[in-house]
Amino acid sequence: MSTFMTAASREGKKINDVVFSAGAAARAAIEQYGKEKVVNATVGCYGDDDENVACLPVVEKVYRSLPMSDFITYAPPVGLETYRHDVIDATFEDQRPEGYTAAVATAGGTGAVHIAITNYSEVGDKVLTTDWRWAVYDNLCAEVGRQLATFAMLDDTRSFNIESFSSSVAAILQEQDSILIMLNTPANNPTGFALSDRDWDEVLDVCRFHEKKGKRITILVDIAYIAYAGEKNEVRSFMKKFSNLPEHIFVLFAYSMSKAFTLYGQRAGALVGLSSSQDVIREFEEAGKYSARTSWSNVNRAAMTLLSVIRRDPVLLKELEAEETGFFRTICDRAAIFMEEAKACELNVIPYKAGFFISVPTTVSAAACEKLHDDLIFAAPLARGIRLGVCSIPAYKMSGVAGKIKKALEAV
Ligand code: PLP
Repeated sequence: MSTFMTAASREGKKINDVVFSAGAAARAAIEQYGKEKVVNATVGCYGDDDENVACLPVVEKVYRSLPMSDFITYAPPVGLETYRHDVIDATFEDQRPEGYTAAVATAGGTGAVHIAITNYSEVGDKVLTTDWRWAVYDNLCAEVGRQLATFAMLDDTRSFNIESFSSSVAAILQEQDSILIMLNTPANNPTGFALSDRDWDEVLDVCRFHEKKGKRITILVDIAYIAYAGEKNEVRSFMKKFSNLPEHIFVLFAYSMSKAFTLYGQRAGALVGLSSSQDVIREFEEAGKYSARTSWSNVNRAAMTLLSVIRRDPVLLKELEAEETGFFRTICDRAAIFMEEAKACELNVIPYKAGFFISVPTTVSAAACEKLHDDLIFAAPLARGIRLGVCSIPAYKMSGVAGKIKKALEAV
């Protein structure tokens, strides 16, 4: 008999957090050599040029002005009524597709992904996502007895791999009556890749084909980083394509206040549902309410209030958008230095469009990251490559990083 106490099905559960370990190594190096000498590319939050996690000023101003009652009072499990309305607007901006919509407040984007998996895939089923992915997707699936299956995100021309997507959906639907597909776009973590509008046309064609054959398809679009992907309506142009989809193609959006409002630790987000069927949306609200009540009960009321206060005041909203654009431009400048130098030294990089992260593909990421420690560069060694958080590396430290990665890869 096991000497441990967890239920047999839970024995050995362990998060292998390579990002956290790499971050700890970076902090140790900072202690030893000083902050100026170390490039800490492990951080996944926007950092200012002094490398401090930055808060959007309008968010700080409004948050500090809220009454104590907003911080201590329970909220309804599905979220405050105003928030549920306003977070739908924040998801779609001016690109709202036709259809019925609803939102359920969640504990960050993570909570949204969690309740999407729980309610829109069967126990034991495969959930499909891209091979380049946020590693927590694997754990979120395993936690509730699902398996994460992946398809190749890119083809030989470094474009979205519709062939791989299509064959993976077909293979899974040979075994299952329904499928949950999770796509983290735009500003994919860990690559900065995004599906184009044409890619979305092809994705939806594949989904329509299987829906006609009697299958049920749910697409979860994880838009965690959308606030830093470009002009708000341009980066949402694909959303209009979801208008009037057949009843058995259901579209969900995982919205996060962590990045959009720089409120990472305040744990607020939403799962937004869109369907041509009012029944599907009613069922979504009930299922979401049930999941929320049994997972976290209710989420941070003050964060929800803040979103509504800002979105309902045109002056504050303008401030928010201008400040987000400022952060976005800073990230673009940092990324541009890296991408130009990578091109010059012929370092292979996953096509980066926008977002917090850039990835360099390699099968020896752990060894290469270890080698980079000689240059006091600390990056996250992911299964498929080296991830750099361009969201937090100031421009003056970015010069030379691409060349050093190239050298490290040649040396291991
Ligand atoms: N989705 C992706 C791809 C992420 O990288 C993250 C956070 O790192 C999230 C969702 C969820 O973030 P949060 O739960 O902080 O909103």
